[in-house]
Amino acid sequence: MKRCWASTLGRCDTMSGEHVISSAIFKAGCSCPIIVEGVQRIRNGAPTYGAEKSNILCRHHNSLLSPLDRVAGKVASFQAESNEENFEDTLYIEGELLERWLLKTVVNAAAAGWTGSAKWLPSAEIVNAIFGKQKVPNGYGLYSVDGIDPKHRSSGGASFIPIHLPTSEGAILVGAYVNVHGMPLFASFHDDLAHRLESGSIPELLTHFSESGLKHLYRPGAIVINRQKGKSVIIGLSWDGLLKFADGTTTTFPRD
Ligand SMILES: [Zn+2]
Repeated sequence: MKRCWASTLGRCDTMSGEHVISSAIFKAGCSCPIIVEGVQRIRNGAPTYGAEKSNILCRHHNSLLSPLDRVAGKVASFQAESNEENFEDTLYIEGELLERWLLKTVVNAAAAGWTGSAKWLPSAEIVNAIFGKQKVPNGYGLYSVDGIDPKHRSSGGASFIPIHLPTSEGAILVGAYVNVHGMPLFASFHDDLAHRLESGSIPELLTHFSESGLKHLYRPGAIVINRQKGKSVIIGLSWDGLLKFADGTTTTFPRD
């Protein structure tokens, strides 16, 4: 691919050799392999040299997305710190930024050919949403997922599971699980996909993340990280500028 996937926005310059999954999440002190399940791009899940970067975005559009990479980096750093038993803190982030990062990561992976033989380009609507120019359509976007990525190792890393559904024009990419240091996030490009998956449309996923079944939560106010040692820690997510707490109170976020 020689073309930037955000070219519908205009003003493309030279291609950037973008990291398919933000390098920010790999800076949190781990050896961090990338595992892509369900595709052949990375043979047997073993990362190959240079496979992490691809010419999929131009420099201009890549740089416009750096706030999204910073949020993903904050999440990864928080996860790394929470490996310390005595660590007690809560991370607050804007849900929309993490959601846009997640959608961008899936589009990156698709544009890089990680999701199957056919490279896929996002609709203008999705491109606009990733760049914050329009709202992510309702039901599309970020879902938290109960459980943990079964391939998670203490050294950390990221894994990626593309979800395809058959159509009359062949299988199309409709979503993906992106696991960041074991924490599964689900990106949907379809408003009914999480429900269909919970109903068993891909049977092997039903107990993939948790023995108690596959459960998604759309735009969660909090993601709880259960730790082997120490109390659970929480990533709080604001939506539409509001953080909502378990006691029913809310506060504006970010504060400025
Ligand atoms: Zn561009």
